[in-house]
Amino acid sequence: MSNSQIAYQKCISPSCGKTYDIQQVLVACPQCGELLDVRYNWDKGAPPTSWKDIEKNWAHRDNKLNFSGVWRFRSLFPFAPDEKIVTLGEGQTLLQQANEVAKYVGMNADNLHLQYEGMNPSGSFKDNGMTAAFTHAHMVGAKRAACASTGNTSASLAMYCSVTQLMKAVIFIGTGKISYGKLSQALDYGALTLQISGDFDDAMVRVKEVTRDMDIYLVNSVNPFRLEGQKSIMFRVLEALRWEVPDWIVVPGGNLGNSSAFGKAFYELKQLGLIDKVPRLAVINASGADTLDQLYNRQGVRWNDGNPQRDVIKAFYDKMDAEGLKASTLASAIEINRPVNLIKCLRALDFCNGVVRQVTDQEIMDAKSRVGSGGIGCEPASAASVAGAKLLREEGVIAPSDKVVCILTGHLLKDPTATVAYHSTDQDTFNEVLGSRGVRRATFANRSITVKNELDDIVQAIQLYG
Ligand SMILES: *Cc1c(COP(=O)(O)O)cnc(C)c1O
Ligand SMILES: [Zn+2]
Repeated sequence: MSNSQIAYQKCISPSCGKTYDIQQVLVACPQCGELLDVRYNWDKGAPPTSWKDIEKNWAHRDNKLNFSGVWRFRSLFPFAPDEKIVTLGEGQTLLQQANEVAKYVGMNADNLHLQYEGMNPSGSFKDNGMTAAFTHAHMVGAKRAACASTGNTSASLAMYCSVTQLMKAVIFIGTGKISYGKLSQALDYGALTLQISGDFDDAMVRVKEVTRDMDIYLVNSVNPFRLEGQKSIMFRVLEALRWEVPDWIVVPGGNLGNSSAFGKAFYELKQLGLIDKVPRLAVINASGADTLDQLYNRQGVRWNDGNPQRDVIKAFYDKMDAEGLKASTLASAIEINRPVNLIKCLRALDFCNGVVRQVTDQEIMDAKSRVGSGGIGCEPASAASVAGAKLLREEGVIAPSDKVVCILTGHLLKDPTATVAYHSTDQDTFNEVLGSRGVRRATFANRSITVKNELDDIVQAIQLYG
């Protein structure tokens, strides 16, 4: 049975539900404009019936598809023939029990795990989705691929293009909204980088127009194939927990691709009988980019069996435009006011009995420093998950005995400016980078010590501070 008979695309709106061939390049339903899912006729394929079926791939890691932490689960998203799959060994990531961070969050020791997606080849979880979208682009013969990006999507796309030379990358970024760590990747990988005046939301509007008019393949997370790859983050979490489902998955919310993908993953695993319990999902906004929190908690917007309150959402965006409100947070990867996957995320929250919270940049930076001092570290946006878990613990929504997994979406070195400013002894540096964002204290700063270049002074400093 070929992949095109097993997999198809389907509009997520139940009142439309139109289906499309897997070879079609679409980022929205041509009929009604809603987002699309990749769906599977499981009975026409050979879906795994137990986790053992998937574990078998471990014995064949000489096959690069099994080496990939994404594609070794490909029987759970069988849209591509093996020979078309493009992999760079993404998904070699780690689920780490983090007792120091557990203490900070207020959990019992052993009960908090961190999923380090910064270990991906381009340094963020985006590679999980990019390998899948890139594979689809390759399946349909695309020659150019584009994205709007706050940084990590562009780094990932540019990497897949440069290593494989299968496509040319076209990247849209806003002004002043991209960290050097991320921008340097896109430039070094040779991507065509277009900096337009405006922010991420503006760049997103343009890239959609350009890709439509110029027949360029769009790899932002409106692309349903991205989310198929990102499901594998949950598969790896379960694998690391020996297929035991945790109580909570806590994830930062930007464009809401991850949260949407996670919900879909659990929905399908339940459908296939591979899990019987579904974890609760907590999606964490930065308070400077809190559209989901506003709509979900203040306005009561819900998935509502596929009929979310579209009038309420539209009124919210209209008001935002009228007031000229722009997203503003240090956590640049989630500095997004118009999350493209909003409706899918509502569906995930519905299925996973989810909650939504927002955390301040102060809380994000403090949580980030705790992650760094008790683990591998992460970029600011990632730490929203840990700050969110702490908040939910304080509220009593998460119990100290719950099993919690926080997703750390990106690598520490993606945004060294924020980290160095936090630990800096120089008040001007602190103020410029953090103070301007409302961060008042470097609560857990680890200051460097200035020492004279004399052996005695150095020895004394180590004795004094070490
Ligand atoms: C893209 C990104 C996010 C946001 O993820 P969404 O799926 O868009 O919600 C969070 N953190 C990092 C590091 C990212 O690169
Ligand atoms: Zn439709």
